[in-house]
Amino acid sequence: MTTPPAAPQQLFINGAYTDGTGSATVDVLSPATGEHVGTIPAPTPDDLDTAVRAAHEAQRAWAGVNVWERAAACHRIADEIDARRDELARLQTLEQGKPLTESVADVTEAALLFRLHAEDAVRLNGETLLSRDNGKRMFTFHRPVGTWGIITPWNFPLLMFAEFAAPGLATGNALIVKPPAHTPFTVLKAMDAVVAAGLPAGLVSILPGDGPFGDALVRHPGIHAIGFIGSSATGAKITAAAGLKRSLMECSGNGPVVVLADADIEAAARAAVDGAYPCAGQVCCATERVVVHTDVHDAFVEAVLRESERVVLGDPLDATTLLGPLNNEGVAEKMDRHMADARARGARILTGGKRRAGMPTDLYYEFTVVDGVPEDSLLSREESFGPVVPIITGRDEDDLLRIANADALGLQGAVFTRSMTSAFRFIEEMEVGQVIVNDSNNWWDINMPFGGAGARGTGWGRIGGKWTLMDMTDTRTGVISL
Ligand code: NAD
Repeated sequence: MTTPPAAPQQLFINGAYTDGTGSATVDVLSPATGEHVGTIPAPTPDDLDTAVRAAHEAQRAWAGVNVWERAAACHRIADEIDARRDELARLQTLEQGKPLTESVADVTEAALLFRLHAEDAVRLNGETLLSRDNGKRMFTFHRPVGTWGIITPWNFPLLMFAEFAAPGLATGNALIVKPPAHTPFTVLKAMDAVVAAGLPAGLVSILPGDGPFGDALVRHPGIHAIGFIGSSATGAKITAAAGLKRSLMECSGNGPVVVLADADIEAAARAAVDGAYPCAGQVCCATERVVVHTDVHDAFVEAVLRESERVVLGDPLDATTLLGPLNNEGVAEKMDRHMADARARGARILTGGKRRAGMPTDLYYEFTVVDGVPEDSLLSREESFGPVVPIITGRDEDDLLRIANADALGLQGAVFTRSMTSAFRFIEEMEVGQVIVNDSNNWWDINMPFGGAGARGTGWGRIGGKWTLMDMTDTRTGVISL
């Protein structure tokens, strides 16, 4: 890889980059090359206090700024992010490992989120409500919650920041953001865009840190609400620590892709593969389990293997690469564990199933297809978060639906069928937040209310469109006595 773009090796508090008050530091190594990307200070409780004080002061003023001006600031942030697209994308690929084409798409979508939420915010109207009492007039309106603690994962460093920052700022909130300590730089660099856009100091602070620092952020009395994107296991800890604080929780997925007997098999196979390799499978709505009708199993497996051949594993800066390295050793070990478990339970690894030797780091996992996956295997039961298509077989529609729903998580699913009746059945009966018909499980749009089914262990709240604006504001009511 070529010379890395300069990354700000500091925290960002109250509108400025700073070394903070601590002496501990974190070295960040690239999963793609193994090279040293940079070193950042570990934030301290004093740094957090400073950021919270600045946020409170800035947020009080920001809530009083009219919504058109807040929206205009978000549009300016979008312009400034767009102007830095290449630089931000290269930095993200270096620290995260995903192919550059994907990083460019992430940066573009992050900018679009600021535009989308700016435009939705100026239409976040209240309602006039009818009352049983003729002497009263009631109406609702939206107010910002206050200062949010935002905790993000490492798979989409910039986009996940934007998913909260755009709706949060547009609706008058302040945010203290904690990215993982090992993918801090893209978000820190994006603060150049925030400063250039003229956003008042203090509204956004960036304190990359570890789990215990995240816990301190959640528990800080000056934090009014929590926005979290990450694993369900961490989400459960955060919920326990947050008490009555407002929260928006986006957690793990184990997305079923269901292939019915009447499906277009070529399209289903292409989509199953297309949902499994982006970001090396480290996507919450990636292909995690493919549940195939037994009648079309053989044709599907053959088509998936053919489609797998185009998945080129390699240098994420190379334009021909579709599959880059995994982000960290923890995810690679989980893939190793899932493969060993699949083998032990009699599943057949048709291609891949191991790390590729001779690469710049030990994190390059081969694109993997596993057939005959038992329902009680780790591949079935847990989110694998790697580049894998696990194939499970079911005997009829009821059985396919049962297997699809036999999971503790319920984020997003897909179904392949030519029947409108079957499509509607799966849309309505799959226990997930979104069902994609006849396309990849990894399909997403910034304007859709993305999130899990409520009764499942994948969180609550919605990311995207006007729904996040409602989740990040209070609906308040005025009652006027005539
Ligand atoms: P993770 O849960 O390990 O970490 C997420 C964040 O939480 C990190 O910033 C981490 O430092 C922080 N954290 C860890 N322990 C904490 C604690 N006790 N208190 C507060 N913060 C703490 O998740 P990850 O491995 O970074 O991300 C992958 C997971 O994220 C996957 O499960 C994936 O499905 C999920 N994800 C979900 C969505 C969604 O929209 N639903 C989107 C992307 C990723």
